[in-house]
Amino acid sequence: MGELISQEEIYLIRQAVRNFITKEVEPLAAQMEEEDHIPRQLLDKAAEIGLFGLSSPQEYGGLGAGMLGKVLISEEIGRGPNCFATTIGCHNGIGSVGIVEFGNEEQKQRYLPKMAVGKLIGAFALTEASAGSDPSGLKTTAVLKGDKYILNGTKLFVTNGGIADVFTVMAVTDKSKGSKGITSFIVEKNFPGFSIGKLEKKMGLHGNTTTELIFEDCEVPVENVLGEPGQGYINALKVLANGRAGLAARNLGSSQKLLEISTKYAQQRVQFGKPIFDQQIIQHYLANMAIEIEALRSLTYDVACKVDRGENVIKESSIVKVFGSEVYGRVADLAVQIHGGMGYMRECEVERYYRDARIMRIYEGTSEIQRNIIAAQLKKEFPLK
Ligand SMILES: Cc1cc2nc3c(=O)[nH]c(=O)nc-3n(C[C@H](O)[C@H](O)[C@H](O)COP(=O)(O)OP(=O)(O)OC[C@H]3O[C@@H](n4cnc5c(N)ncnc54)[C@H](O)[C@@H]3O)c2cc1C
Repeated sequence: MGELISQEEIYLIRQAVRNFITKEVEPLAAQMEEEDHIPRQLLDKAAEIGLFGLSSPQEYGGLGAGMLGKVLISEEIGRGPNCFATTIGCHNGIGSVGIVEFGNEEQKQRYLPKMAVGKLIGAFALTEASAGSDPSGLKTTAVLKGDKYILNGTKLFVTNGGIADVFTVMAVTDKSKGSKGITSFIVEKNFPGFSIGKLEKKMGLHGNTTTELIFEDCEVPVENVLGEPGQGYINALKVLANGRAGLAARNLGSSQKLLEISTKYAQQRVQFGKPIFDQQIIQHYLANMAIEIEALRSLTYDVACKVDRGENVIKESSIVKVFGSEVYGRVADLAVQIHGGMGYMRECEVERYYRDARIMRIYEGTSEIQRNIIAAQLKKEFPLK
């Protein structure tokens, strides 16, 4: 894992990130929502305070924050507009972790220092039209010709697709071997035969780009194979599992923000001659939000500590992914309810969080798939004999 920064440094970074989200990101929320675009200057400012280097070790220019540090900082990022949090989260998570974990020294030296300072933005491309929850439907092929692999196929729903420079791409190198015939590649956006396809219009996360990637005889040098050939799928699962505590932390930050907004609104909104906060049911809504958020906070920090200790967290990372996304969904729903009609209006920020929360149960593995993983682990832990 390399050298880690101290808890004191993480505390200071957290404060700086809270400040940055409040003063620089939140004021642009309405503009990013309206224009479906995050200004490049904002990403550059985020890079200046180290937000693009949350996963990279210090020796490659990153923060060396470890998983607990990454989670504590991601929680702060999650308080702000989710389009920004997803852009940064995808880069630091599924967009970088493959290179950090499975890259060889030459690949790490070539990509990580530039990724850590936001000069290169990362993305991850597994999903295809026939391969969502089930990767056995992958159709993108990679055929070795001389010193290059030739990739053909189309990837779907790639977060950061419109702004990324470096993509971790999974493609079939040996169809006869099923999931063991899938290989990962590091693809740069200027490789011949690579192009960006349709830019999706989404329910939420406006500002964050989600696109198709098109490979037409795309030439990828053999030195850009990431990890062992045939290990692409298993490595992709590891990358996704690694990212889950970070995603939960962003959900935690958003939920906490909604609790704070809702508690203040309830004290200030007067109906029947008194603040709606004085109604016991509103107090209980807020208390229920707080209970779930505290439970999510403990769980998220605990899973992060287990990752840092090198423990196997296959089950725990799925648990935290499901719980984090579902707590956020329930908290967002209550936040809208507490705000009444105003909570349904575009001018009210809880409306945006409510729409943005919905994706969390779908991407990086749906809630159903996480429950399948948890159940499979339970069967292993508690076999009949
Ligand atoms: C905004 C957005 C961003 C995304 N970003 C990325 C990205 O950066 N990179 C990337 O590779 N992908 C990305 N995705 C794709 C995302 O990971 C998939 O959409 C997700 O894994 C589900 O796949 P699917 O959409 O094909 O749904 P399907 O697999 O078709 O599933 C449909 C429904 O059936 C359920 N289901 C399927 N199989 C089972 C099963 N065995 N048991 C129980 N239920 C099941 C699912 O849970 C779901 O409810 C993104 C998607 C979105 C919407």
